Amino acid sequence: MKILTTEAKQPFSLTKIPGAKYVINQYIGCEHACKYCYAKFMCKFYSFGKWGSWVVVRENLPELVKNKHVAGKVLMSTVSDPYQPIERKLELTRKILENMNKQIRLSLLTKSCLITRDIDVLKKFKHAEVGLTINSWDEDLRKILEPRAQEIEKRILALKELNENKLETYAFISPVIPKLTDIEKIIREIKPFASFFWIEMLNLKASGYEFRNWLKENFPESISVLTNKEKLFRYVKEIKELIRKYRIEVKGVIYFPNIL
Ligand code: SF4
Repeated sequence: MKILTTEAKQPFSLTKIPGAKYVINQYIGCEHACKYCYAKFMCKFYSFGKWGSWVVVRENLPELVKNKHVAGKVLMSTVSDPYQPIERKLELTRKILENMNKQIRLSLLTKSCLITRDIDVLKKFKHAEVGLTINSWDEDLRKILEPRAQEIEKRILALKELNENKLETYAFISPVIPKLTDIEKIIREIKPFASFFWIEMLNLKASGYEFRNWLKENFPESISVLTNKEKLFRYVKEIKELIRKYRIEVKGVIYFPNIL
């Protein structure tokens, strides 16, 4: 794993990501190396090798966030996971959280139970929502799609612990891949620990050529739902029916036209 360091010029950047106004990215690059990752376009700007083999650490961010306030939700880490393995040693995410203005509306998403280490500091925020990406793949498939991220079971336990500590929790069901993702099972299992949900269908374009080909070869039926307008709408309708059936709060069901 190549670890490189750099300095950021400013702590927060404006974003068009639904539900947030700003992002803060303390890491660029992600050890989790998810095959479908939408952030792998960063390899165009940082030619350090394959996605998942390098991480750029913006080590001055704990200092930069001091005494800064922004109005509008701040999403933490859009081109990495804030609790990827290197965080255990560097504690960069933790230092940023410690120094950040606790009035900031913070939203944080991860695939790691390391987040539970920071429950004490997260509880100091007036508005903090903490999310775990949960998808229902079996472990064999998880090992292919998210080779270095934690097991789904561990993520569910982390979500439970965050919830028991009275933090606002959410489950990010993403990417939803028709025929592979059992949304109903996730909702049933997670409902007691999640204040709300986001559901996002796979964005085939952003997932990249290599992943699209893998999906075409191994799960052509999934591709056929994602690329056919009628089938896709029918599938989204089924998701909406599940939302009604289980009476869960969903901030958004995101789906893409997938015209390739
Ligand atoms: S954890 Fe998120 S940022 Fe990291 S590789 Fe996976 S999808 Fe990409």
